[in-house]
Amino acid sequence: MSNNTQKVELSIVVPAYNEESNLDYLFERLESVLTSLNTTYEIVCVNDGSKDKTIEYLVKHHHRNQAIKVIDLSRNFGKEIALSAGIDYATGSAVIPIDADLQDPPELIKDLVAKWQEGYDVVYATRRTRLGESWLKRFTAYGFYQTIGKMSRVEIPQNTGDFRLLDRRVVEAVKQMPERNRFMKGLFAWVGFKQTSIIYDREPRYKGKTTWNYWKLWNFAIDGITAFSFVPLKIWSYIGIFISLLSLLFAVFLFVQTVMFGIKVPGYASTIISILFLGGIQLISLGVIGEYLGRVYEEVKGRPLYFVRNVYGFDSESNID
Ligand code: UDP
Ligand code: MG
Repeated sequence: MSNNTQKVELSIVVPAYNEESNLDYLFERLESVLTSLNTTYEIVCVNDGSKDKTIEYLVKHHHRNQAIKVIDLSRNFGKEIALSAGIDYATGSAVIPIDADLQDPPELIKDLVAKWQEGYDVVYATRRTRLGESWLKRFTAYGFYQTIGKMSRVEIPQNTGDFRLLDRRVVEAVKQMPERNRFMKGLFAWVGFKQTSIIYDREPRYKGKTTWNYWKLWNFAIDGITAFSFVPLKIWSYIGIFISLLSLLFAVFLFVQTVMFGIKVPGYASTIISILFLGGIQLISLGVIGEYLGRVYEEVKGRPLYFVRNVYGFDSESNID
């Protein structure tokens, strides 16, 4: 353990879950870019409870290059939390989260840094294309960005992942946000600061398989929307008002009809339809309230975001390095 407490200029943060087949090539490309930048750097890798040999690979690389530092989480916490852990440990004046699967080309770090040196606090990399992703994934992603864009009070950049450069100021701001629901792109946008973007082509995964499926993506989308919008809660009041008005009109109609033409007994269809319709609406709105309530419960418990099993390359008592 030598010069590790020294602050560096650039921190690259890599969350990794079952990425053993990508790491060698990732470091090769990262290191060649970072050396060419002629600056001090660290690569903070977070092993998010991988089931393969990711941690062994990371530690091996750490021994080869001390600038590669490793945080071994106690289990799989999911990408957003792994990223938060890495950002907590990063010391750089600028922090760049990047995926381990090389979907975000490391060569772009140069452009990010150039913009940062022009004076921007956040430089995000926006995807122009998403190679190797099905039309369904592209379509659902588009739908998601449209929806959240309309509902959220902060503007969340479209087609932008977590690959971006964050100035230390922004990192400190994001670290102050205590929520357990880490919808990172939302948090990064929420803090504000001077932001700009660069455009790139998203590449397909180098090796391995994505852990995302549509069910996870759906839940991720709900996390994002509930964390950044009250629209789903509020909308029920308006739907309620609308339905009440309709029923009032219908009541007047029935009243007049009864007065003028007398009582007609049949009415099974309209009765059952309105019962089912209102019952459905009520269940949906209860469900939405439940979504928010569950999240409130999650936050109120106040559990730590993650636990670290071990670190390599940081000064810490748990270090067995
Ligand atoms: N990842 C993680 N924990 C998880 C799932 C993923 O740290 O539970 C990491 C993964 O290793 C990769 C990044 O998050 O570096 C993006 O994951 P993936 O490529 O599976 O997502 P996609 O690119 O399909 O959105
Ligand atoms: Mg990926």
